[in-house]
Amino acid sequence: MSDANFQDLGRFVSYATKQFNLPLLGGCLADRRVAPEIPSRAVGLSLLLGEVVHCPSLLQLEQETGQPQWQRLVGYPHPISDDTFAYASDRMDPDQLRRGCVYINRMLKRGKSLERNKVQGLLVVSIDANEQFCTDHRCCDDCLNREVVCKDAKGGEFKKVQYYHKQVYAQLSGTHISVILDFEPLRQGEEECGAALRMLRRIRRMYGARFFDVVVVDSWYSNGPFLKTVVEELGWPVVAVLKQERFEVYQETMALGRDQKAGVVERDGRQVEIWDVRALRFSDSYPGPVRTVRTVEKWTEHTRKGNERQEVEKEQNWIWVVAGDLDAFGGEVIRDIGHLRWRIENNAFGELTQHWNLTHCAHHQPVAVVALLWIKIMAFTLFHAFAILHGKHVRAGRATLQELRERILRSLLCGPPVLCFSG
Ligand SMILES: [Zn+2]
Repeated sequence: MSDANFQDLGRFVSYATKQFNLPLLGGCLADRRVAPEIPSRAVGLSLLLGEVVHCPSLLQLEQETGQPQWQRLVGYPHPISDDTFAYASDRMDPDQLRRGCVYINRMLKRGKSLERNKVQGLLVVSIDANEQFCTDHRCCDDCLNREVVCKDAKGGEFKKVQYYHKQVYAQLSGTHISVILDFEPLRQGEEECGAALRMLRRIRRMYGARFFDVVVVDSWYSNGPFLKTVVEELGWPVVAVLKQERFEVYQETMALGRDQKAGVVERDGRQVEIWDVRALRFSDSYPGPVRTVRTVEKWTEHTRKGNERQEVEKEQNWIWVVAGDLDAFGGEVIRDIGHLRWRIENNAFGELTQHWNLTHCAHHQPVAVVALLWIKIMAFTLFHAFAILHGKHVRAGRATLQELRERILRSLLCGPPVLCFSG
């Protein structure tokens, strides 16, 4: 594979233009500056492209915009200062940016690009929370705060206030291309479940009830009010991790399992014993019958210590509670759905955390925090669609996703001019 022709940027831009109408998406990047000297699109597109090529800060982005190639691409013939990026990002419209991302995800679904994520015909959305950043000194109006206990140099304990931002995310999980459907910031004094329900209600309005089929969550969400709202009000079945001894239903699952013979299947190189217990009572706040699926998973891990190969026997135990109607699907399908959250490969949330600086905030102001996060997600989805659905090098395993991002940066700096918007 040769880098000599530096065509990757051109390919990315023409793919995003053809598949997702990049100039139209450029409209979502508009901001409320009055009679700005630098067009919104040049600012927004620079922020978007800065995410794709992994620019670590607004200051670094300012330097990149000094390149003539960058200026041709975004259609503005001068550098753009980090102050301009900060000022404009705090005047963007997060709802409009969200609509841009919804449009991209809808196009992916319409183009059948999400089909390969399905488990037995079901599209699965997983909910995860993430603390974006925390700080001792700087505070914006939307900061959450908490008191933490610290130790001074002499080991004495003292209390201090910490400020932080935290969001819940809805990720369309799967083994192919994983995307973020939406995210919602937590409010002061609110639990994750509250923000998650606000987000799920909005997702239902924006994407429709049939965009996906199942919601999968960790044990934090396995409580009656959350299950009741998602199953009865929103109409999605839920698969939730059930933690030990939290509920009677856990004890009942273990007790009934003792009398019941486990089914055994092979999954992902593991031997999986499955107990599938139906028609259990969950709690007063969710009296409807639930089902539990318990697995004991065993496999052998091969490691190397020096020149010596080692075999280590591994075991995991899981219990999921299923609320809502997934009766037609066997225990092994519930197990596969539950495991989607934990898959490392093609996991949007994991990728964003590991390689896209999800926990970094370039400009700490209420609107900018959310707007810049949406731009990151938009860049992420466009790039992943390009790399996984379109780019043959990544599909053939000849380049990693991160290598392709570096190649786009190199072709931006050294390749032929690429025009994105004319104005
Ligand atoms: Zn803040």
